[in-house]
Amino acid sequence: MFENSSNTDLSALGEFGLIDQITAPAKKVQQSTITGVGDDAAVIEAGDRYLLVSSDMLLEGVHFDLSYAPLKHLGYKAVVVNLSDIYAMNGTPRQITVNIGLSSKFSVEAVEEIYAGIYMACDQYQVDLIGGDTTASKAGLVLSVTAMGTVDKDKVAYRKGAKETDLICVTGDLGAAYMGLQVLEREKTVFKGNPEAQPDLEGFDYILERQLKPEAQRGLIEFFKERQIQPTSMIDVSDGLASELLHLCKAGEVGCQVYMQKIPIDHTTAQTADEFNINPLVAAMNGGEDYELLFTVPVTEHEKLQDVPGLHIIGHITENGSGAFMVDDAGNKSQITAQGWNAFAQ
Ligand SMILES: [Mg+2]
Repeated sequence: MFENSSNTDLSALGEFGLIDQITAPAKKVQQSTITGVGDDAAVIEAGDRYLLVSSDMLLEGVHFDLSYAPLKHLGYKAVVVNLSDIYAMNGTPRQITVNIGLSSKFSVEAVEEIYAGIYMACDQYQVDLIGGDTTASKAGLVLSVTAMGTVDKDKVAYRKGAKETDLICVTGDLGAAYMGLQVLEREKTVFKGNPEAQPDLEGFDYILERQLKPEAQRGLIEFFKERQIQPTSMIDVSDGLASELLHLCKAGEVGCQVYMQKIPIDHTTAQTADEFNINPLVAAMNGGEDYELLFTVPVTEHEKLQDVPGLHIIGHITENGSGAFMVDDAGNKSQITAQGWNAFAQ
């Protein structure tokens, strides 16, 4: 089928390796293409501002499980995860397009339910649904959203740009969506064994909501505007804090040091992690789907960051080549790796 005769497993490259490989031949022939692949959103010249474009695809059985993801929440989440990438460029989302692949098991009512969630997100974040495609799918539900936004040229924040001594900050708390997923998976297993069983979801509201109906961090972008803060680099936390820290370090050609006790973890996340025998820090570092924003600012902006609810200074940027490290309460350093943070390697 393919001309290339060798067969390399996709897993040998990993997602980021594959992206590097398939985008290497991409040429930039348009003057208006400012940056293409490699950031949260593409940046395009558009008069006195930049246009931002970001796209994500959600597949049934890979990104969501319809046995516990309500359709309305799924529609909402599909939009929010894209808007998060626009905010991660310090931009304002404006429009979305939605492509949907539907198998025959879906009724009109079910599709309406998905779109009710999509429109709810449009309303919440003040974006317009302006187009898309609808197709039949033989492999379950496919939901792909493209978000477009704008940013003033001097306000755009890239993954690159962090400088030595910059403060590393993150919004909200981390690891909750991952622990929410663990609870949903556990209840699904119980239900499979005994279809009469009622799901035991009491007390898990916060982490379930973080998994099923996440929000994007519009408030931070408004806060930057208000206090006239320009982040030197920014990324949204979709794959876990460890992975995002490494992205900022690699793009900015810098190192980082973050402090274990500063990593924000909600008490429900911590409690649930205990129940599952998972180190809460591992959930925060490797879990992902938090859709918080991770950014750096010059240390001189420290005062402006005071008294902001939900904003955490977790560490600082170090010089290039010094590596990415987590420092525990006793001052021991452990290296942050792409797989996350290894709690056992000191
Ligand atoms: Mg992102």
